Amino acid sequence: MAKAAPARPVKRPPLMDRRNSSVDALADELGAVAGALRGGVTPSVGVVLGSDAGIVENFALALRASNLPLTPLIEPLPTVRRYRGRFAPSPTGPLHAGSLVAALASWLDARAHDGAWLLRMEDIDPPREVSGAAPDILATLADFGMTSDEPVLRQSTRSGAYAEALARLESAGLAYGCGCTRTEIAAAALARGLAPGVYPGTCRAGARGPARAMRFNVDDAVISFDDRWHGQVVQRLACEVGDFVVRRADGLWAYQLAVVVDDAAQGITDVVRGADLLDNTPRQILLQRALRLPTPRYLHVPVVLSDAGEKLSKQTGARALDRAAPLQELERAWQHLGFPRLGADDLAAFHRHAVAAWKARWVPRIALSS
Ligand SMILES: [Zn+2]
Repeated sequence: MAKAAPARPVKRPPLMDRRNSSVDALADELGAVAGALRGGVTPSVGVVLGSDAGIVENFALALRASNLPLTPLIEPLPTVRRYRGRFAPSPTGPLHAGSLVAALASWLDARAHDGAWLLRMEDIDPPREVSGAAPDILATLADFGMTSDEPVLRQSTRSGAYAEALARLESAGLAYGCGCTRTEIAAAALARGLAPGVYPGTCRAGARGPARAMRFNVDDAVISFDDRWHGQVVQRLACEVGDFVVRRADGLWAYQLAVVVDDAAQGITDVVRGADLLDNTPRQILLQRALRLPTPRYLHVPVVLSDAGEKLSKQTGARALDRAAPLQELERAWQHLGFPRLGADDLAAFHRHAVAAWKARWVPRIALSS
């Protein structure tokens, strides 16, 4: 993995964890290195980085753009964590073509990184739950050759962890009770020229009437992150989302809080899921920062649309997958992810070829010598 070190390396930068560095941040850093080198003797420099694939890829991009005569030396960090990905379905119905795309992409990415793939059942919304859906989803995934490497985590067992996280947010002054009704929120948003549903922080200074939901104060946060599929994503939370709910008025835990707490508890390094959750990610990153939890890498794959152009879901009439024809279903999901048909004869062959092709596209090779 490591490139040969330059014969006489100039002064090495300190060992730093740059796993969350963006291309821009690395370009700045390279500029600083170039400044230090100006008038120097050697045209190459040892740069110590984490061996994480994403950061190596970002570094390669920044280096190429910089045109500097530098030869990076890639060294693994002592604390580099092994890849851990997950698929987190809600038991609101059987797995359909849309959820299979997300499941397959996350499974392939984990396998292509020689990592672990975990399953999490997002069963925190009992009113929406369909009896028998959870075991049915797990059995379907197993028929398709995808099983969790560790025991399935059920969000219904995690209330204590969510309550503890909310208590931390409250004691940090970041969460507050909100007594507004839907009608009041809509009226307040309209009055301030905000998009419908954007909560303008009416109850920040104290709930008018009994507090129903708990909200996170986004203040003036602007969150930017590099999505592996979509590139840089920027969101101004105050005008695009507003103070969002972390515990619902009906007492149930909000998805945003639960997913952040559980991604951290399961040591998830990489989130691969449908692009319908792309605009949720800044809220999750903000919560990770507030709770001092690590931010995983994100890859949001295209969602499957219904004939009417809506995201495929049980509500838009998605049919259950044909468990008797896993190869055909997997081929369809695979092509939706932008790959040509594999035409594999059996499940094992499909998985083998798909992992290899996924790896070639999504796992950067380390070839940085100029
Ligand atoms: Zn309110």
